[in-house]
Amino acid sequence: MDINQTEALKKIWDDCLSHIRSSVTKQSFKTWFEPIVPLELVDGELKIRVPSQFFHEWLEERYYPLITKTLADVLGREVKISHYVLPDGNSPALSAPEGYPAEGSANPVAPTNQVPQPRPSERESVVYSPTPLMRNAYTAPLGRTYGITSTPSASFNSFLHPRYTFENFIKGDSNQLARAAALAVANNPGGTSFNPLVIYGGVGLGKTHLIQAIGNHVLRQHKAKCAIYVSSEKFTVDFVDSIQRDTINDFSAFYRSMDVLIVDDIQFFAGKEKTQDSFFHIFNTLHQLGRQIVLSSDRPPKELKGLDERLISRFQWGLTADIQPPDLETRIAILRNKSEQEKMDIPQDIIEFIAANVTSNIRELEGCLIGLLAKASLEDREINLALAQEVLKSVVGSVKYHITIEGIQRSVCEFFDIPEDLIRAKTRKQEVVSARQIAMYLAKELTNSSLKTIGLHFGGRDHSTVIHSYQTVEDQLRSDEKFAQTLTQLRKKIELAGR
Ligand code: ADP
Ligand code: MG
Repeated sequence: MDINQTEALKKIWDDCLSHIRSSVTKQSFKTWFEPIVPLELVDGELKIRVPSQFFHEWLEERYYPLITKTLADVLGREVKISHYVLPDGNSPALSAPEGYPAEGSANPVAPTNQVPQPRPSERESVVYSPTPLMRNAYTAPLGRTYGITSTPSASFNSFLHPRYTFENFIKGDSNQLARAAALAVANNPGGTSFNPLVIYGGVGLGKTHLIQAIGNHVLRQHKAKCAIYVSSEKFTVDFVDSIQRDTINDFSAFYRSMDVLIVDDIQFFAGKEKTQDSFFHIFNTLHQLGRQIVLSSDRPPKELKGLDERLISRFQWGLTADIQPPDLETRIAILRNKSEQEKMDIPQDIIEFIAANVTSNIRELEGCLIGLLAKASLEDREINLALAQEVLKSVVGSVKYHITIEGIQRSVCEFFDIPEDLIRAKTRKQEVVSARQIAMYLAKELTNSSLKTIGLHFGGRDHSTVIHSYQTVEDQLRSDEKFAQTLTQLRKKIELAGR
């Protein structure tokens, strides 16, 4: 019997969930089972929708056996599971319900039945035979071979990943120009003076995301246009292959037929003269025809070594825009966005803690978040600062703090619930004196500040007062166990907050 009616399927799934609920922890249930959406049950196969590729891999690793067993118990027969990853973009051109290469697969590979095809209008004159690389089948982890149902705008594989959109790309000072230029180009490909558009910047800062967003936007907005994304390595491999197969004319004709050509990491063209030569001619043709060229690089074009001068000068014809490491606010916004995408509920202080510690690479920033979720689930622990600290240590190596005297004062005052200005004032009230001494002690312990500097931060007290406070606290630490415990707690709080 095929069951695809929503009601019936929902009931079966609810039944399964109630069984599963009793065999996993509450946290795991919430994290890994609630987000699953059953789509249909046909021919002994249950298709489920999951929020991300990571999520699927996790399920496959840990919970698919439990789910299949429970389903078998409920239905009285064996059922296979197949998954579909929720695409981020909802546009018809991008969402391909039947097995788009799963989100998060580092390199979307051409599915079996998808080979680059010439533009429809030029089909007669261009016959592009795919290279073996492009013929690789993308086989899903569950043994299914995926095939993209054809989309109106792209009868070839444009190698654009639907996750990379402008909507998902967080705007910040560090990427403002690059993003604005990319958006302008995406709205009017070939029609701005930004041709080529070259985006450059360090590793993991969003170059691939941004240039892919251009392609995705073009396919969505301009249905008749063809856009293709290719890494410089893949371009090189395909070029070499086309020489061997004597299909070089087809190779060039294919790229020359594009409306938008996006080439990632052009620094890898270095030293490959023949490839550069071929690219040079493709570039010229496209540029003359008013087609859009988008490039990325790890450095500005003029600093590229091993590249032909003719190419470098052409790269500078349009606009070159850089992406810098993101500032704190942008990092926080990126983490928040990512956690929403992954359907994770992460407290704000933890987001801030991660953002304060991972400063130079967005890929690492995302890695921390995923690591945090994995650890919380694997060890069945609450997502809190202590856990975040452990994850950070394993991802970043060590956790760097920037603890300041002001931060310590703020934490101490919050802890003892006294107004912050009193700690710097002349007040001799016992509780304030005691808090002030503790703050001075911690300032000495946790920052590199001199006694003089510490004194100055406490209403201009001199260094002998700081020494006296330090000794008083030390004495009490030795004699009073409860006090020692309180201080350890306070110290931990400051360290975790990175103040
Ligand atoms: P690069 O190509 O510069 O090495 P990527 O484009 O691969 O970097 O970006 C690394 C990761 O960081 C990707 O998952 C990407 O989606 C994410 N990312 C980078 N910049 C942003 C941003 N501004 N907003 C949201 N996510 C970003
Ligand atoms: Mg990249």
